[in-house]
Amino acid sequence: MKSERIDHIGIVVKSIEERLSVYRDLLKLEVTGIEELPERGLKVAFIKVGDTRIELLEPLSENSQISKFLESRGEGIHHIAFRVDDVKAAIEEAVSLELKPLSREPESGAGGTKIVFLHPKSTGGVLMELVEGHH
Ligand code: ZN
Repeated sequence: MKSERIDHIGIVVKSIEERLSVYRDLLKLEVTGIEELPERGLKVAFIKVGDTRIELLEPLSENSQISKFLESRGEGIHHIAFRVDDVKAAIEEAVSLELKPLSREPESGAGGTKIVFLHPKSTGGVLMELVEGHH
């Protein structure tokens, strides 16, 4: 696989609404969508920054994918997402390189994308997301 761009940077927040004061009101960035992903326990907002985006992640419940992160580390940068052509093939390639995808099958991401995360222990401390498809 080959990635040619950072699709987005994921940032965990307690409240999307509250943090829009920085991204929308101060930086005058465009919020291109806000979406709830109940199966991941998340509300996400996408904010366009030139060719890439910021993804704000807010937990919808106490057992969301980001609740533990928020509890132990507080708000902050959570992951970096790279655009790829084929997530399924990327998972296989990652496994063959002894990296650790968090699932063996693509999961559904925001905006109908297919995604997988790579465990930070296998990437040098960075939670990486691979994304297929446009938002
Ligand atoms: Zn993401």
